[in-house]
Amino acid sequence: MQNLWNDAEAATFVGDLAQRVYTSRLLGREPTLVLHGGGNTSVKTRVRDVFGEEEDILYVKGSGGDLATIEATGFTPLRLRPTARLAALSQLADTEMMRLLRSYAIEPGAPAPSVEAVLHAILPYKFVDHTHADALLAITNTPDGERRVRELYGDVVLIVPYVMPGFTLAKLCAERFDACAHKDDLIGIVLMHHGLVTFGDTARQAYTRMIDLVTQAEEYIAQHGQWRVTFPPAQRSDRPTRVVLAELRRAVSEAAGAPMILTTHDDDKSLGFARRSDVASIARRGPVTPDHVIRTKRLPLIGRDVATYRAEYEAYFARHSAALSQPLAMLDPAPRVILDPELGMATAGRSVKDATVAAEIYAQTIDVILRAESLGGWCALPEAELFRVEYWDLEQAKLKRMPAPQMFTGEVALVTGAASGIGRACAQALLKRGAAVVGLDIAPAIESLFPQPEFLGIHADVSDEAALRDALERTARRYGGLDMLVLNAGIFPASQRIAALEAQTWSRALRINLDANAMLMREAHPLLKLAPRGGRVVVVGSKNVPAPGPGAAAYSASKAALTQLARVAALEWGSDGIRVNVVHPNAVFDTGIWTDEVLSVRAQSYGMTVEQYKRNNVLGAEVTSRDVAELVAELCGPVFAKTTGAQIPIDGGNERVI
Ligand code: NAD
Repeated sequence: MQNLWNDAEAATFVGDLAQRVYTSRLLGREPTLVLHGGGNTSVKTRVRDVFGEEEDILYVKGSGGDLATIEATGFTPLRLRPTARLAALSQLADTEMMRLLRSYAIEPGAPAPSVEAVLHAILPYKFVDHTHADALLAITNTPDGERRVRELYGDVVLIVPYVMPGFTLAKLCAERFDACAHKDDLIGIVLMHHGLVTFGDTARQAYTRMIDLVTQAEEYIAQHGQWRVTFPPAQRSDRPTRVVLAELRRAVSEAAGAPMILTTHDDDKSLGFARRSDVASIARRGPVTPDHVIRTKRLPLIGRDVATYRAEYEAYFARHSAALSQPLAMLDPAPRVILDPELGMATAGRSVKDATVAAEIYAQTIDVILRAESLGGWCALPEAELFRVEYWDLEQAKLKRMPAPQMFTGEVALVTGAASGIGRACAQALLKRGAAVVGLDIAPAIESLFPQPEFLGIHADVSDEAALRDALERTARRYGGLDMLVLNAGIFPASQRIAALEAQTWSRALRINLDANAMLMREAHPLLKLAPRGGRVVVVGSKNVPAPGPGAAAYSASKAALTQLARVAALEWGSDGIRVNVVHPNAVFDTGIWTDEVLSVRAQSYGMTVEQYKRNNVLGAEVTSRDVAELVAELCGPVFAKTTGAQIPIDGGNERVI
């Protein structure tokens, strides 16, 4: 483990709280120490109030904050005395503890403090750092973990057995600390199955002790077992898995009661672990630390039998909730991590972020399990303890604070021609409503169109069938399946009267505007049929379908045939729960088809200014690609749940169409 302290950098962080920010970020930069809001840090300092009086204040990390990017405002300033005194109470419910802690904050807008605030308060050291270091988790999750920790560190650490985090842990630490005969030698506390605490007079000292203790633990594992976890190159079959994945996602979504994102990882480690002959034994003992249960559930699913997983989860819930005085509502019984010898590791979540977090945590879990195995046996906490954390009031409260799902949370859309104009606006409108979006375009810029993980840009030609199959395969591997398909890519050939129509103009328009869409619909159908809330297709037609113009034979014919294709699909696919609708835009000028030059030439030929020409419709309104995209997105949503086979103009009103 590398010590990242840098004197020059540290010197720019002036004062106790700034120093606290600096080393918190150093800890946060190391994923083998903390992951996803894990870990917490604090500093005790004196603050002068408005009356000029000084008070001891504990700045402790706010709950759920990320150490890697924390700012001074990410710490909650608590009055130290009453915070520390809480540990002297014989009993205190964690929800009550949190209420009291909030009342001790001297900043009303500060975040809710970490649930470990009392633990930080009772330790008589200025700087306190707490991580969930992988190396410690590997050692403490073995049958003789405590003996190993003692052998490793001797008297410089206090060893505290596993108890629930929050008040119970703080109280036990306070008691063990008071009773410790070698208090003066202490530089840290090992929390069994949970993590490591270090402390010091300066930010640097507490941080350096953390790095040193963790480095020692890593070296211990290397000497007594195996530190480096490696997997040989795995064999991959090139058999398409998109339908298998969509079926799995459908089953997971049904168990979860809502559409889920399913992300598949087939790197050597994921495949290697999923193919181990002992995977069903070592992967089904529990998480490496109890708070992962919220992200990964207690156990992964081995194989693809979601129904059995669900039944086992229900039995686990019944086993542990029966004895409770207060009735509990069961969380959804869907797996979050799936280990399958063919697929590798698939992780599920309501959002792409949740599925990603589960994957990152489980990748770390694999390392910890295998290191603990190399030390003589991986053993997790008993399931009753894990149940208590999973259904802990404070974790439940966190889940309740999660923002309400958006219209398309957990759903996946594919938009063709998404690099420009209407397609790009459709991708944005769907992303804005919570969907994961795959954008496909012949323009290479598609690959970096949007930076967020909810977007996958695929550079492909819609008229290349193999490329379409590959795009659907990638869609299923990244997000699990397909719920919405927006057939938008299209070309508008240069004007040619039929008498002068070139065969190439005709065939190119039909190939891209029609044939490609027919092939994509055929290939996408098995996935759309498995969409948890029913598949939806929106076709971008044209005003030229109901009201064609001279000179646009190839374009109008291709769009008319495409509309007819959509109508047949609406008839054929209704029984599969798939809705198919068409929008007919007209004169959408903020797109690639219309350059400023073309626009002014057209306006001139009608004897209008560009502005007049843009609003040349019944409503006198300019139609933008965003207007079209909002309609496309809403057509996929609940308002149109009972509409299929419809054709909706989006043209400001066109006299010939009306
Ligand atoms: P645009 O040129 O801005 O966007 C079309 C996109 O499709 C481009 O990104 C292009 O690279 C992509 N594309 C073209 N051929 C492709 C291929 N073979 N494979 C993959 N991608 C390909 O134009 P737009 O106006 O946004 O057009 C979108 C759709 O709207 C088209 O089907 C068009 O016919 C239709 N439409 C547009 C208007 C209008 O006034 N803009 C009116 C009616 C209908």
